Amino acid sequence: MAGRNHLTIPGPTNVPHEILSAMHLPMEDHRSPIFPDLLKPVLEDLKKVFRTETGQAFVFPATGTAGWEIALTNTLNPGDKVLIYRFGQFSHLWMSMAQRLGFEVEMHEVEWGKGIPVDALEARLLADSEQEIKAVLATHNETATGVTSDIAGVRKAMDAAQHSALLFVDGVSSIASMEFNMEEWGIDAAVSGSQKGFMLPAGLAILAFSQKALTAAKTGTYPRCFFDLKDQIATNKDGYTPYTPSTPMIHGLRKSLDILLEEGMKNVYARHYRLAEGTRLAIKAWGLELCAQAGFESDTVSAVMVPEGKDAKEILSVAFNKYNISLGAGLTEVAGKLFRIGHMGDMNDVSMLGSIAGVEMALLDCGYDIQAGSGVAAALEYYRETA
Ligand SMILES: *Cc1c(COP(=O)(O)O)cnc(C)c1O
Repeated sequence: MAGRNHLTIPGPTNVPHEILSAMHLPMEDHRSPIFPDLLKPVLEDLKKVFRTETGQAFVFPATGTAGWEIALTNTLNPGDKVLIYRFGQFSHLWMSMAQRLGFEVEMHEVEWGKGIPVDALEARLLADSEQEIKAVLATHNETATGVTSDIAGVRKAMDAAQHSALLFVDGVSSIASMEFNMEEWGIDAAVSGSQKGFMLPAGLAILAFSQKALTAAKTGTYPRCFFDLKDQIATNKDGYTPYTPSTPMIHGLRKSLDILLEEGMKNVYARHYRLAEGTRLAIKAWGLELCAQAGFESDTVSAVMVPEGKDAKEILSVAFNKYNISLGAGLTEVAGKLFRIGHMGDMNDVSMLGSIAGVEMALLDCGYDIQAGSGVAAALEYYRETA
């Protein structure tokens, strides 16, 4: 089919041409005297995206999933107790990883469509008078349901309970797109990956640790090797890595940081809010509902519920086969019940309108009772007014 596949999934996201070009270069000597000129500023500038001054950023040749493991295994001791709320496939997978790694997991089920219940969290931490919980695992943006949790509220709850647990935050689909304040929110380990807000191919786990977490990493006795922060710290200090880095990816990350910081993080957040808001207005015009309940709507992905009796997979299939647009599927418990529209990364008003038009055509083809052009009209009016 002519034209590019219109990539509207919540990761991998579109890679800007400047990043693709920056990565298209010959292999180089990663032990050369000039390699640190590339890596050191990248690690420094990452802190501006995570919004931390006192923390330290790390890049591993891996993916976001590894970031969960890096946070858990570097700072905790075997069998330590961790607390997690589950409200979608990604919080589920993080919980499952903690179990498989042998940590004692206390999991609280939350209705899919809502995020972390901060009042319940505060009550639970207050009840933990022996401070047995060593870490709180918080999924900032649950990509499976398009739900954003209030991490400032999580920090407030932890402080109100005077609890010393570490705060780990999965920001894979929020960092570099949505408001994220590592320092202000007192986050101890912030986890991200390259293929979402950073607009790169998959292949890097991108993290930042607080000083508190770095101190814990010095004494943590959980066995680790490839993911050991100590090896990164020892080599990063001089601008090198413990093993061969993916040099094209580091060049791509350099360009990604240039693009993000030139736009300015506040502007990046505002752009994602607008893209999301236009999408939400289109969804409303179609008479459909988000999986996210009021107050939890994500600015990087909208998960759209289909009415009873409809199969959301049908929309995905028509969209892909007939219109060459890729949408996100419903995962596990919500498979067939919802489809997801990604509005993350390298997108603007017009590319978003293309996605909305593609969804709208697929909905019409699948027999949804909607007015042709209604979603596009709602979104474009909003984009025009707020541009
Ligand atoms: C994509 C994603 C992950 C997993 O990242 P991978 O790079 O696929 O390992 C984890 N958490 C969230 C919230 C995500 O969106």
